[in-house]
Amino acid sequence: MLRILSLVSTGPQPVSTIASLDLRKLAVPKGCERVDALGKAWEGEACPSQPAVQEAWIEAVREAALACQESRIELNGLGFQGAGRFFDSICFCPACQYGYGAAGGIVEQLARENWTSAAAVDHPSVNTVLLWRRSVQYGLLEQMRAAVEVPLCLRTAAQLKYTGHRSSLTFDEAQRQVSACSVDVKLASEFSALSRPLPVLGIVPADELWTDHQHRMFSGYILESV
Ligand SMILES: [Zn+2]
Repeated sequence: MLRILSLVSTGPQPVSTIASLDLRKLAVPKGCERVDALGKAWEGEACPSQPAVQEAWIEAVREAALACQESRIELNGLGFQGAGRFFDSICFCPACQYGYGAAGGIVEQLARENWTSAAAVDHPSVNTVLLWRRSVQYGLLEQMRAAVEVPLCLRTAAQLKYTGHRSSLTFDEAQRQVSACSVDVKLASEFSALSRPLPVLGIVPADELWTDHQHRMFSGYILESV
């Protein structure tokens, strides 16, 4: 769950290391799995709305900061999981249902009616749910930042995928909590259209895939294969 990766940046320390913490690989506390609209609990997929999951993730960040004393911790997987289809990613576990409030039942019904649809369904209750989910991510990130001294880097999707920017933390929001964001360089074209209020690192699988074009676009890169 914790990997030490190379960080190549344009700053005063051109090459350093970064501890990358994959939150999705942490053990899921009992009864805290993602639950889809059909009532299926997804083994091994934690729901970040669950207080026990939040505690475990914050503790993992604290341990990472103590164990490796790297200059920076990259948070990977801070969010909700899902597979492909829009409604598949909406969790209906008790913690989420509580958070959704009155919108929960409506979205659950919409999910069942549009289960096989890949695209998001535009509905006020869906927006309510997505906004609430974003507040969960933001609150969790805030707690993680308060728990450690080392700067955090958030691995995020620059691409506005099926969950939409309404459920992912924006770069602007992340700026208040992390010192940098990291994104897959394959998404560079989508990324170029977004505002960049903070340093953004590209993630590349191998050094030779780092191009001049990417060099101009990013503040540095994280080498995945270390
Ligand atoms: Zn949930």
